[in-house]
Amino acid sequence: MVVERTFLAIKPDGVQRGLIGEILGRFERKGFKLVALKQLIPSKELAEKHYGVHKERPFFGGLVDFITSGPVVAMVWEGDGVIASARNMIGATKPLEALPGTIRGDLAINIGRNVIHGSDGEETAKFEISLWFTLDELNDWNPSDQIWRVEQ
Ligand code: UDP
Ligand code: MG
Repeated sequence: MVVERTFLAIKPDGVQRGLIGEILGRFERKGFKLVALKQLIPSKELAEKHYGVHKERPFFGGLVDFITSGPVVAMVWEGDGVIASARNMIGATKPLEALPGTIRGDLAINIGRNVIHGSDGEETAKFEISLWFTLDELNDWNPSDQIWRVEQ
């Protein structure tokens, strides 16, 4: 069985504001499995590839400058339905429109400082995971309490 995986990244604003633990904790408590985690300052090349779909948009330059401005916490999370569920937990792109209870709804106010990125679909997730991580950085492991999260 192929288990679904998604790429999430705490953006430089989330790191600078000390929100790493708060954000990681939400996905941990939900019950998804963390399979990769690292902190890095993304290169311009990485940032431009990651946001390549937006390269014609007026905000592209500012977005690349922002995402390369400091450490980002890059992660891969695994679980059935994790791609859509993580997007729901993240909330709308515009934080003022994001529902309370979501990460952006609870922790952000500005579209250009919306704290976290999450893959928006299966293809994007595959592309982003392989862009940010090498295969040997992805850990296959079984949480010892998995039987209490998922029916076997
Ligand atoms: N963004 C921005 N201004 C805009 C639209 C988007 O700064 O007018 C930034 C914002 O950080 C957003 C990212 O570009 O998270 C990617 O945009 P997308 O529409 O893919 O939003 P997301 O998938 O992150 O919700
Ligand atoms: Mg997007």
